[in-house]
Amino acid sequence: MMTLTKQSDLVKLVRKGDHAAASRALSIVVNEGQNSEFLAKEFFQFSGSAQKVGVSGPPGAGKSTLTGRLIGSYRARKLKVGVLAVDPSSSISGGAFLGDRLRIMEHATDPGVFIRSLASRGMIGGLTYAIFGAIHVLETLGCEKIIIETVGTGQDEVDIASVADTILYVTTPSMGDEIQAMKAGAMEIGDIFVVNKADLAGKDKAVADLKAALGLGHSAGQAAKAWEPPVLATSAKSGEGVAELRVELDGHWKHLKASGEGRARLKRQHATELQFWIQRRVLKTALDRVTDKILEDMVSRKTDPASIGRRLLKA
Ligand code: GDP
Repeated sequence: MMTLTKQSDLVKLVRKGDHAAASRALSIVVNEGQNSEFLAKEFFQFSGSAQKVGVSGPPGAGKSTLTGRLIGSYRARKLKVGVLAVDPSSSISGGAFLGDRLRIMEHATDPGVFIRSLASRGMIGGLTYAIFGAIHVLETLGCEKIIIETVGTGQDEVDIASVADTILYVTTPSMGDEIQAMKAGAMEIGDIFVVNKADLAGKDKAVADLKAALGLGHSAGQAAKAWEPPVLATSAKSGEGVAELRVELDGHWKHLKASGEGRARLKRQHATELQFWIQRRVLKTALDRVTDKILEDMVSRKTDPASIGRRLLKA
């Protein structure tokens, strides 16, 4: 009981905006430490109102640099920002990984910004199962905007769509081939597209190509789409276009709330979170029941994986 009391104190501290408490809570939730389930339940109650922005796109497009700029833009409006960087490596400490992200780390000492990296541990699509728990901690902390940066290994794009509310897809003028090869999936999930590195040559052509690839501007005669993904040019280096990008992100958030699409996406996120929970729990429960006797019976062909598997799941 003592521990439970302490855990509810931890929740209170996080609600008050205590970053150290949020850090501790995050570690417990992510590593499934003692009473992590109690904490996760509490944090879930305070979640559901932040805009979760997923930043996706090929490596080197400038996602980190642009994220740093976006943090600045949100902070200029006094919004509290959370950042979750999904680390593709399985390293336990994300320090080195975040260390590379100078533009993000510039904000690390700002009390209005909470930054954390999560190791993806080779989980489905690179996104860790723990991402939802982490998001709920940040929401409880009072983050109004949560930026989730994934590493565009090519497979993350679709998964981020079941985690974030708004998907920002980042590319560059020199990535014309990438656009050609861009998976239909990435095209479909993008809510806002950015041609970053607009300070380099070829941005206008890249924007036009991207618009063409997205089939934008040809909607005459068709029923107007509820949301037509804007294509913007930005330079994360100079800051050009970042204010416009923030306006589009706000616009998409308004659209989500007004159209009911936001609620639909939240339901999809919860379905995924529930799926992760069940998968982990069922797997662990069943595997914990595997005994040496069972393995012996399999060796002597008294039973087989399908029969024993069924029995373990039913128990
Ligand atoms: P990420 O892998 O998508 O996160 O890309 P990074 O943010 O790490 O950026 C990759 C490289 O591109 C770094 O050297 C950045 O300094 C550089 N970069 C990022 N944004 C811009 C930009 O707008 N213009 C130029 N010229 N370089 C940029």
